[in-house]
Amino acid sequence: MKEDCIFCKIANGEIPSATLYEDHDFRVILDLGPATRGHALILPKEHYADLCELEDSTAEKVLPLARKMGKAMIKALGCPGFNLVQNNGEEAGQTVRHFHVHIIPRYQGGSKIVAWEPGRLDEADKEKIVEAVRAEL
Ligand code: AMP
Ligand code: ZN
Repeated sequence: MKEDCIFCKIANGEIPSATLYEDHDFRVILDLGPATRGHALILPKEHYADLCELEDSTAEKVLPLARKMGKAMIKALGCPGFNLVQNNGEEAGQTVRHFHVHIIPRYQGGSKIVAWEPGRLDEADKEKIVEAVRAEL
C-alpha cells in the first residue's frame, strides 16, 4: 500500500466506497464522477501506478473480472453494451496514479465517450514505427 494513494485506501477499505465486488486481489467501486449510470472502477488492492507496473499474476485476472462485471451490468442495469477504458500516464488522461480499469455501461442514444478523429497512416513512417517498437519487445 502507498501511503498517500487514495485508491490504495479505498481498495483496502480504509475509505468507504460503493463496492460492487470484492475479492482477495480487487475491489470494484462506483466512480464518483460517472460518465454513465453504473460507471465502475476495478482497483487492485496492491499499489501499481499503471499497466506498465502491474504484475502478470494480477494482470491476468483483470480481463476476466471486467467481463464478469460487464455481464452483470448488462443484466442488472439493462445497458446493451459497455466500454473498458484504461488510462496510463498523465498525457493519456490518467488522473489517479493507481492502476484502474473503467467499466462504463452504454445505453441507447448515449453520446460518444471514447472517440477520435481518424488520421491516415503515413507509408514512410509506418516502417519506422514497426521497426522501433519491434526493437523494444
Ligand atoms: P483516470 O482519469 O483514468 O485516472 O480516472 C480516475 C477516475 O477516478 C475518475 O473517473 C474519477 O471520477 C474517479 N475518482 C476519483 N476519486 C474517486 C473516489 N474517491 N471515489 C470514486 N471515484 C473516484
Ligand atoms: Zn495506490
